[in-house]
Amino acid sequence: AASKSPSQVPAGLDPLDPARPSIARVYDGFLGGKNYYEVDRQVMVKINQVVPEAVHIARGNRGFLNRACRFLADQAGIDQYLDCGSGLPTAENTHQIVQRANKQARVVYVDNDPVVLAHGRALLEENDNVHMVAADIFRPADVLNNEVVRRHLDFSQPMVLLQVGTLHHLEGDGGPEVMREYVDALPSGSYVVFSHFLDPEVPELTAIAKRIEDILVHGPMGAGRFRTRAEIAGMLEGLELVKPNAVSEPGLVVCDEWWPDGPKLAPVSEAARCIAGAVGRKP
Ligand code: SAM
Repeated sequence: AASKSPSQVPAGLDPLDPARPSIARVYDGFLGGKNYYEVDRQVMVKINQVVPEAVHIARGNRGFLNRACRFLADQAGIDQYLDCGSGLPTAENTHQIVQRANKQARVVYVDNDPVVLAHGRALLEENDNVHMVAADIFRPADVLNNEVVRRHLDFSQPMVLLQVGTLHHLEGDGGPEVMREYVDALPSGSYVVFSHFLDPEVPELTAIAKRIEDILVHGPMGAGRFRTRAEIAGMLEGLELVKPNAVSEPGLVVCDEWWPDGPKLAPVSEAARCIAGAVGRKP
């Protein structure tokens, strides 16, 4: 059967289909979560067979997300967050990190996966400043005009838009347009946290990326593109990128190298070089 790309799934209406693997559950499985089903496990096994270090991609991505949230809450002092494609709650989620810096920080999570939405509803019960919205993140107008988003986030004050590990699940070349629509809606002084599967354009590393892409794109999930640095940069237009560490120029780097408040001491594996991240500020 033809697999649906996530952007074709009606927001919040996607019935739970245990026969189809889910991006959110596979990713959660790689991070050590327990919310995956047998179909998801099969995808994980396949990926691990071709790239045993694939777990480093998920961990690299999540570590970047966590450090970026800490940086923006602690150092930029931003108190409102729109986290698109938030995924299943794991140990350190956006709201936990930013509310450590500021108890009043508001977070709106957006996803379209029924399992993510169910877990998100559980979060609502414990925290008045956290909300969960069911929407298709590749339709920016749906997210930006969503009633819950508008009620809890003030679009006249700087905010953080997170698109972490999401745009690589969009097929085709509409990524720059999707991001432009989001960035246009952000007030000046806002930040964007962004990560994306990277084709490092080095033969041995591109081979790693292609092996994983084949499973994701041609498998039952039907989504997961490794794009080049130039293609990814095209999604970050209109943003001034933050300096990612003491030795790199401002810009996009391998997620494991985005470390503004200290050096990364462990070596970066080959697989971990296949995901890149950046934090950008809207002037
Ligand atoms: N942002 C989290 C992180 O980086 O740790 C989770 C990333 S996970 C790889 C991608 C998430 O995007 C999944 O939870 C998936 O359900 C969600 N997603 C993918 N396509 C989506 C769409 N069209 N609309 C809403 N959510 C989507």
